[in-house]
Amino acid sequence: MAKSDPARGSGTDGRSPTGDKRRLLSALEGRSCPTCDDGGTLERATYKGNAAVICDACGTPRVQVWTASF
Ligand SMILES: [Zn+2]
Repeated sequence: MAKSDPARGSGTDGRSPTGDKRRLLSALEGRSCPTCDDGGTLERATYKGNAAVICDACGTPRVQVWTASF
């Protein structure tokens, strides 16, 4: 049995929520835009002061991350 199982639902642990959000941005970055079929690519950008992933073709923000400690 693994001691460090991240899926254990014991509530609070040492995970960084900011790290999770960055990972989410990284996961979306480079994907094709689901909104436009014209080959738009999602890229990291800043949207209204928040970290986001925005389509470089239609400019639709897919993700916004609100950072309290920025
Ligand atoms: Zn698009």
